[in-house]
Amino acid sequence: MTERETLEFDVVFVGAGPANLSGALHLARLVKQHNETAAADKIGDIEIAVIEKGASVGAHILSGAVMDPKALRELIPDFEAQGAPLESPVNEDFFLYLTPKHAIRSPITPPPLKNHGYYIVSLNRLTGWLGEKCEEAGVNIFPEFPGADLLYDDADRVLGVRTGDKGIDKEGKRKPNYEPGVDLLAKVTVLGEGPRGSLTKKLVERLGLDEGREPQVYSVGVKELWELPDDRYPTGRVTHTLGFPSDAQTYGGGWIYGMQNRVLNLGYVTGLDYKDPLIDPHAEFQLFKTHPYIAKLLEGGKMIRYGAKTIAAGGYFAMPRTYADGVLLTGDCAGFLNSQRLKGIHSAIKSGMLAAETIFEALLARDFSAKQLQSYERRVNSSWIIPELRKVRNFHTGFRHGRWLGLVNTGLQFFTGGRAWGIFDRDRAHAGHAEMQKLSAYGYRGDKLEQRYTDLRFDGKLTFNKVTDVYHAAVGHDEDQPVHLHVLDTNICSTRCAEEYGNPCQRFCPAAVYEMVEDGGNGKRRLQINFSNCVHCKTCDIMDPYQIINWVTPEGGGGPDYKGL
Ligand SMILES: Cc1cc2nc3c(=O)[nH]c(=O)nc-3n(C[C@H](O)[C@H](O)[C@H](O)COP(=O)(O)OP(=O)(O)OC[C@H]3O[C@@H](n4cnc5c(N)ncnc54)[C@H](O)[C@@H]3O)c2cc1C
Repeated sequence: MTERETLEFDVVFVGAGPANLSGALHLARLVKQHNETAAADKIGDIEIAVIEKGASVGAHILSGAVMDPKALRELIPDFEAQGAPLESPVNEDFFLYLTPKHAIRSPITPPPLKNHGYYIVSLNRLTGWLGEKCEEAGVNIFPEFPGADLLYDDADRVLGVRTGDKGIDKEGKRKPNYEPGVDLLAKVTVLGEGPRGSLTKKLVERLGLDEGREPQVYSVGVKELWELPDDRYPTGRVTHTLGFPSDAQTYGGGWIYGMQNRVLNLGYVTGLDYKDPLIDPHAEFQLFKTHPYIAKLLEGGKMIRYGAKTIAAGGYFAMPRTYADGVLLTGDCAGFLNSQRLKGIHSAIKSGMLAAETIFEALLARDFSAKQLQSYERRVNSSWIIPELRKVRNFHTGFRHGRWLGLVNTGLQFFTGGRAWGIFDRDRAHAGHAEMQKLSAYGYRGDKLEQRYTDLRFDGKLTFNKVTDVYHAAVGHDEDQPVHLHVLDTNICSTRCAEEYGNPCQRFCPAAVYEMVEDGGNGKRRLQINFSNCVHCKTCDIMDPYQIINWVTPEGGGGPDYKGL
């Protein structure tokens, strides 16, 4: 039996993203203010911890990002004056429809993509800055501390979180530097793990928090930063694209944002509910760059950074219950992102603040039960988060019928208060992985990518293979540790999956983690997991057609380092 240290806190926030950092900061301030002004019934000093699996705050944070500043302004009204790291205000909005050869500029920018008054930011830098604000307010931040398991009592009340062990070798044996994970006990544990949180997934399953809700659906964004040789793309210009290279059945679109110092931030989003089993989101992005308009923009430039991450796109109907005994969910792991605007930073920040207000009230009442914490849901419902999400509640599901019907549906939302074309109020969503068709449905023979991406070559100048890109994500994992991608039945990989889908993990993973390799020279192949490449995007956990991949946290500090992304 492993002996573990136990540390007691009042509140533990799991994940140092914008949601939880805002929550921790707001809570620290509410308590301080209360203790300074309340005549009686002071709460006293409370201990707040934020744990983060990355090597530093922001290391695993990847976003577009154009930020709607309304929530940050509520949290820190003078954030500009306080030196928040902002790249630029948005000065211009472009919307382009890409045919294979042409870029057609829309005379008007669709209202959801108007970004005037917003800021282009590096979310990695912004969260780093929020982390500093938290520390100034007395919050304890622990990077390199992955939350590995939630702790429960016999009545399924959440008691805290167990962090991951350190110093276990790949065979599961203890190394000389072995340190068991710590049990962090808390009155309230707040999960702000971002999309497809590994603890959130288990909690939702265990407590049935998704009962009566639609399954969450996701997209994945693949992104590079480029250094340009001149000022050809101004700082503060925002471009969104539709069309090439996605086929009309696949949800997808691109972005190009002008950062400071001639850095171009561009990426491509692919819906993780695609049908064609040969789709490869990384290849879609590489193809996007070969479009004449984009290729010209990048001519003479240099790719400097790479990253990929999923986006929870299901919205209003896919939100799980966000509270239970001793626990709250914030930000993307609660599904608060507005997928029509591709914006979730503002709602993540706001949800963190509302969680803080709920916990503050619970501290005063000395009651941390679900009944008390339920007021979080009421707060969210009466804030601007829910009205914003309700207006676009049928946006993503409209694209299940292809791009054109999806666009018609989007237009109809404006006149129907979000109802769009449904006679019912929703157009039933399916879990994204269930949408994938078999190879035979497309007439593919085997898993050769060239059958879909006939024109794509990785030239090392404009287009890069996954391994080269992963190098630019500065990923690091100690290789001598257990694989953190648990494939529950590898027999399926070499048999059913090979035949039916051509092992799509090799394609949907944007970091070349999954590889089918020769096994014994008799034509058989087996799965090899290059886990040290993993960028923690969670695509595999989401998109595997048999749902046999389980992403768990690796040793703390491992993963990408998304500096500037
Ligand atoms: C490609 C892309 C483009 C986007 N563009 C925009 C945009 O332009 N504008 C916009 O507003 N939004 C955008 N978003 C969405 C936005 O980034 C998210 O809505 C926002 O970051 C959510 O914040 P969060 O705090 O909920 O989660 P995250 O930002 O995902 O942070 C979660 C943190 O928790 C940590 N963590 C996770 N699990 C554990 C664990 N078990 N233990 C310890 N730590 C853990 C992670 O390492 C991470 O640091 C984009 C997202 C992507 C992927």
